[in-house]
Amino acid sequence: MKALCAQCRAAARHRFEVGGYAVHRCARCDLEFVWPLPDDAALARVYEQGYFSGGGAGYGDYFDREREQVARKSRERLGALRSLGVSRGDLLELGAASGFFLGHARDAGFTVRGVEPAADALAAMEPSLRPRVVARLEDLAAGERFDVVAAFDVLEHLRDPASTLAAVRARMRPSGIVAVVVPVLGSTTTRLAPRLWDQYKPPEHLWFWSPRAMRALLAAQGFETVHEAPAWRRPSRFVDLDGTSRAPLTRLARAVDVLAHRAVVAAVGDVAVTDSMAFYARVVP
Ligand SMILES: [Zn+2]
Repeated sequence: MKALCAQCRAAARHRFEVGGYAVHRCARCDLEFVWPLPDDAALARVYEQGYFSGGGAGYGDYFDREREQVARKSRERLGALRSLGVSRGDLLELGAASGFFLGHARDAGFTVRGVEPAADALAAMEPSLRPRVVARLEDLAAGERFDVVAAFDVLEHLRDPASTLAAVRARMRPSGIVAVVVPVLGSTTTRLAPRLWDQYKPPEHLWFWSPRAMRALLAAQGFETVHEAPAWRRPSRFVDLDGTSRAPLTRLARAVDVLAHRAVVAAVGDVAVTDSMAFYARVVP
């Protein structure tokens, strides 16, 4: 069977393999995806206990070390929503993890709800937030509607992001905003050295969008992208991406990499170094 693009049904070509999974690229719309998709059992194993708290595939000591970084990101994202005219109302976060963003959104004036299936994430959550969180989108009451739905670092994990966005769209108030953060294609790393890009990590990540492909996905589900912003980047692109090496030659090479990329950014802009991007899209009436 040939791999077909889930977004535009065009034929996709095999690009490379990582961890036994094949990454394909759509010839028409830029979307990249893992195909065949792993089965449900393989996906369930990724998120077994330990994904967030260490030992599992995911986030190491996510709960403590990331706290300050998450606070900064929350301020950025709530600021972007404010600049789009949304500073209160009902906010739902898909993939609420241990609830850091939910807490910040509540403190900023939103009435918050969350969806989070991982029991260990829920256990680490501030107790007063736990009753606000359900395991699945379908567990929300039938009539619940939202002014903002946030999905930060979530869509790339799902088997069927389009149907999730369709379910989100059905729960939004008129002129509501969906806020999405995903890893994005288009940096020098994904173009020139894709095997170095740590966001290609199936079966955890299954979908990889260019900014254009993400706008197309949002448009197909009834959203118009109204604001975009870089969400995360690595300073070096090709050498010692974590910046942890003590070897003098590696450190020198990394410094050259960082400087070279500053020059590239000056020439062509942030797109050369953006690993992850935020998209804010409004419901199309
Ligand atoms: Zn396509």
